[in-house]
Amino acid sequence: MNAPATTVHLQPEFVQRPIPEAFVQALAQRFGAQCSTALAVREQHGRDEGAIQAPPPAAVVFAESTQDVQDAIRLADQHAVPVIPYGAGSSLEGHLLAVEGGISIDVSRMNRVLSVNTEDLTVTVQPGITRKQLNDAIKDTGFFFPIDPGADASIGGMTATRASGTNAVRYGTMRENVLALELVTASGEVIRTGTRAKKSSAGYDLTRLIVGSEGTLGVVTEITVRLYPLPEAVSAAICSFPSIEAAVRTVIQTIQMGVPIARVELLDVNSVRMVNAYSKLTLREEPMLLMEFHGSPTGVKEQAEMVQELAAEFGGNAFEWALQPEDRTRLFTARHNAYFAAVSSRPGCRCITTDACVPISRLADALLDSVREADDSGIPYFIVGHVGDGNFHFGYLIDPNDDDERTRAEQLNHQLVARAIALGGTCTGEHGVGIHKMGFLRDEAGDGAVQMMRAIKQALDPKNILNPGKIFAL
Ligand SMILES: Cc1cc2nc3c(=O)[nH]c(=O)nc-3n(C[C@H](O)[C@H](O)[C@H](O)COP(=O)(O)OP(=O)(O)OC[C@H]3O[C@@H](n4cnc5c(N)ncnc54)[C@H](O)[C@@H]3O)c2cc1C
Repeated sequence: MNAPATTVHLQPEFVQRPIPEAFVQALAQRFGAQCSTALAVREQHGRDEGAIQAPPPAAVVFAESTQDVQDAIRLADQHAVPVIPYGAGSSLEGHLLAVEGGISIDVSRMNRVLSVNTEDLTVTVQPGITRKQLNDAIKDTGFFFPIDPGADASIGGMTATRASGTNAVRYGTMRENVLALELVTASGEVIRTGTRAKKSSAGYDLTRLIVGSEGTLGVVTEITVRLYPLPEAVSAAICSFPSIEAAVRTVIQTIQMGVPIARVELLDVNSVRMVNAYSKLTLREEPMLLMEFHGSPTGVKEQAEMVQELAAEFGGNAFEWALQPEDRTRLFTARHNAYFAAVSSRPGCRCITTDACVPISRLADALLDSVREADDSGIPYFIVGHVGDGNFHFGYLIDPNDDDERTRAEQLNHQLVARAIALGGTCTGEHGVGIHKMGFLRDEAGDGAVQMMRAIKQALDPKNILNPGKIFAL
């Protein structure tokens, strides 16, 4: 399918707000050594993994408690200074950039598990704990938290971006897995949303409003998420295909037949080559599906056999099994490192990452024309995808000093997103809007819906201090 006509949305101009001296002094007095104005610290907090750049924040506050967050926000509110929450810094769309100046509130020191309730399958944590730290802390309970973005992101950041990862096809995204929150609002009030109950009809669903709000409506200081029993049996397999289309058609059939596959990741031949070089593997250099099955020993066997039969119909080579836990870990670690493998394949490059997600029946239509366009462009690229969800990422590896290459990569991105939207999909399945996808949000949601988002933001943050300049322009 040809992409509908589209215009390239350029990034907005950045206008920094003044930072009053009285604010800087009050911040230093309240936070002392917990506040840094060192350039290296500010620069580290004023960028992310994406390709857009902006001046760093004026200071970084390392919050250690809800009270710290509350005090920092109250000061910022008094002086109308922007505040940008910071988790692990792994976002990709310019989320953390201090585009209007202000300060960063780093919550990574708030990394405790507050309570584990295995009887109810929930855990309550502080926002700075990372997904790996959380799973490490609960490893002896027999439960796990499944959501796994490639980076070791913080649970607060994952909440704020409505993240997902390789396990989402079976266990859902942050949208389905966050039950309750504590957050500090723009005026410095501490509020709670949701409960530990499995369901609730009590008023507006503020938890869902905050999940995915990218730090623009409040700073999250506590999160209750669902846990899952560790599966009785796990098996993983890789299968190579003669083409991306064959791999994708296998996935579509697998999902349409209701096979409860736990993970199904696509790697194109470029990704496989890059992963082989970076992770010292010897995977067959063809398009590949990396799969994992969870359940009872019989259930896992049945699922795997069904997918194996489907794969064979589409020319998939015999499954190669990874039976030992360490082999599975090696394969999925290599998958999680695919982004870094790709970036290191072209020294000095930056990566423009796409994140479209389409209804599963349209996955082949969305992907294949974009592959042709990328091949024709001559720009080095790779594809990885959580294809069981209809979500895939092209990474265009551009020379940051080559404006022509950047424009052409953005054009490819625009064509791809326009196509995904036309097919009933979204510009972002999991990374969020940040700055980079602001124009796409308008294309996807329409002016009316964006205006409703704006009205919510203006009501809850009238001075526009919480991560301003993100998701939409005010
Ligand atoms: C190699 C690689 C692979 C990735 N793979 C995936 C993937 O598979 N799936 C996926 O979903 N994402 C993926 N990402 C993107 C990224 O990891 C996610 O967006 C993640 O959720 C960001 O979490 P973080 O802790 O790094 O947040 P940060 O980058 O620190 O912040 C992200 C946003 O959340 C806000 N925020 C942070 N903490 C809070 C808080 N406590 N309260 C309110 N707002 C807050 C920030 O202001 C910012 O807007 C990947 C990134 C990389 C580099």
